[in-house]
Amino acid sequence: MTSKIDKVVLITGASSGIGEATTRELAAAGARLFIGARRGTRLEALADELGENVAWRELDVTDGSAFDAFAGAAKERFGRIDALVNNAGVMPLSMLAALKRDEWKRMIDVNIHGVLNGIAAVLPDFIAQKNGHVINIASIAARIVMPSSSVYSATKHAVRAITEGLRQEHDMIRTTLISPGPTATELGHDVTDPDIAAMLKVSIPQGMSPDAIARAIRYALEQPDSVDVNELVVRPTASAM
Ligand code: NDP
Repeated sequence: MTSKIDKVVLITGASSGIGEATTRELAAAGARLFIGARRGTRLEALADELGENVAWRELDVTDGSAFDAFAGAAKERFGRIDALVNNAGVMPLSMLAALKRDEWKRMIDVNIHGVLNGIAAVLPDFIAQKNGHVINIASIAARIVMPSSSVYSATKHAVRAITEGLRQEHDMIRTTLISPGPTATELGHDVTDPDIAAMLKVSIPQGMSPDAIARAIRYALEQPDSVDVNELVVRPTASAM
């Protein structure tokens, strides 16, 4: 028997890939969802398809006050927030010698500040209600570094450190770090180096279905309040990385 998730969950980056799959998975489990990303038309179509338990608002996670307003709108709609899935992320890989400073900055802004903005938007409520769950989507790049992944890996190592710090600072708030291996999504569509773009064009579609990560998120959410699933690494069975 599948259990029902009686929770209000915020999901960032729900306009494609893992965020979209998670929205579908958790909606099917009965959760009330408030979803965000910049491409509002995609969010609107998803919410229309899934029904009244899914509401949406455009969100740029790099903007802290926009994230606060996003959380406020979720509370207005559903009355409370039980969990946040910090999923939005970008991966414009490049060699350091290419000096793509704008791409470095964008990765740091979205992947680190975006996660911190999310934590800031929900933490005061989680502390006040003595309950809450922050699920951060990192990557196997939170554990390894490869040529061209220096900055991306640095951002995901940071997400891992932030998640562990949050866990240690609060004994009534749950934290989960999920580190996916290659997953077939739109990630890397913004890579500007032609050789790396060509490599990703082959490797990313061979990755796992994003449903695999959605199920890992669901598993962490379904545990009782006294159980905190701290870290999950989910790779394709055939992955050597
Ligand atoms: P996608 O590119 O399909 O999805 C990324 C999502 O992030 C989109 O919904 C995008 O929405 C959103 N996003 C990007 N920038 C912003 C922003 N500034 N504000 C709000 N939303 C933003 O890739 P994935 O689904 O794969 O990525 C989800 C997470 O999984 C990322 O954190 C990624 O690093 C991680 N991951 C993915 C892996 C993979 O192989 N695919 C492996 C390991 C980790 P929009 O453009 O509409 O704003």
